[in-house]
Amino acid sequence: MPEVQLKVDSAYPGDQGGGKARLDPETMLLLKISPGDLVVIEGKRRTVAKVWRALVEDWNQRKIRIDNFTRLNAGVSIGDTVKISTLSEEIEAKRVVLAPPEDLPKKIPIANNPHVINGLLDFPVVKNDSIPIMLGLPFVQPQIVAFKVVEIEPEEAVIITKNTSVEFSDKPAAGFEGVKRFSYEDIGGLKDELQRLRETIELPLRHPELFQKLGIEPPKGVLLYGPPGTGKTLIAKAVASESGAHFISIAGPEVISKYYGESEQRLREVFEEARENSPSIIFIDELDSIAPRREEVTGEVERRVVAQLLTMMDGLEERGQVVVIGATNRVDAIDAALRRPGRFDREIEIGVPGEPDRIEILKIHTRGMPLAEDVSLNVLAQQTHGFVGADLAALAREAAIRALRRYLPDLDLDKAEIEQETLDKLKVFAADFRSAQRD
Ligand code: ADP
Repeated sequence: MPEVQLKVDSAYPGDQGGGKARLDPETMLLLKISPGDLVVIEGKRRTVAKVWRALVEDWNQRKIRIDNFTRLNAGVSIGDTVKISTLSEEIEAKRVVLAPPEDLPKKIPIANNPHVINGLLDFPVVKNDSIPIMLGLPFVQPQIVAFKVVEIEPEEAVIITKNTSVEFSDKPAAGFEGVKRFSYEDIGGLKDELQRLRETIELPLRHPELFQKLGIEPPKGVLLYGPPGTGKTLIAKAVASESGAHFISIAGPEVISKYYGESEQRLREVFEEARENSPSIIFIDELDSIAPRREEVTGEVERRVVAQLLTMMDGLEERGQVVVIGATNRVDAIDAALRRPGRFDREIEIGVPGEPDRIEILKIHTRGMPLAEDVSLNVLAQQTHGFVGADLAALAREAAIRALRRYLPDLDLDKAEIEQETLDKLKVFAADFRSAQRD
């Protein structure tokens, strides 16, 4: 059976949760397959995905684009190589049992919810895969949660069809966490910035031996700077979760305690937790509030905290296994001592998104919404010059709330569950976006 080796890249925005594998025509030709067929993807683990055609700019680069679920199921990260092969037969599942993650907050009525089951039609799966389930009303805060395929019959089945009986287990899958992991698919734009952050952080986290061999020090600190709401926290979280690193987030102002010695103690604890759970990423938001330029410092506390942070970073001997990411809106407000070599010596600017990036961000934040035909994300992107990611997320959420408000008089909220027929009618229109934009 023909097989090819391809390099893994992230999914296109909008593809997430679809079980898709984007391949170029050359690869399809080699494997003698077409869009719609299933392929086997093998990294450290083995899974299946459905073939879609890649966009022209991705052709002839020997790459495959798959989302964070499929990457997890294949046991690979971006940049790894996977083996792709074909299936001799696409066997339908007669029965699958899906188990919720351990961290699902409360019991959510999913069993027999036609909306959930419809979303799984034609979904490619093998046993032990994590698959995305969309929870919540379709457009008010839809949340993608990973469920685990704990049973599948027959064992060699690879696809859920309308003939499959889908069962939900009450018992969570042991050791399985599926609620909100951030992935590269949650980030619109910022391609170069993300690439730089990954090179700086992921490489030493995953391959410390490379740095050891070359005799160079892996970076200890990275400074992300730019206006609020542009995705600094988001990319730090995504890099942590994609590289499997433990993530500790602290806000600068929260560390500054008025009580003598408490701030330093808090910092020591954070570094201790990072070391114990390494590889780790410590994210310090609003770094300028703990580490302002010394000439600006008025408080004794801040001075002590800067000194403590410098001591902790200088003391990091984890060879890239503990990295500190600082975020700030004002890079010139950071103490120069913190920006010296061996400390926050890499700086990445996270700017306000341009129009193409706004389209991507809008796609991400309307992913689970039923958009009416008259909504054009391209037009919305043109009209939102100067909006940052957080503004675009708020706009999408606000439009959905306005849509919901229009339907409220027709909804029978006393009923335990809103009927599928009614749910199917709910749509977010261009007018909802216009109204959300006005205020
Ligand atoms: P910052 O840390 O730069 O202040 P955040 O990362 O906290 O900004 O962004 C706040 C929210 O705005 C995010 O949780 C996300 O919903 C949205 N957001 C910001 N930037 C982006 C982006 N580039 N792509 C998608 N969503 C974004």
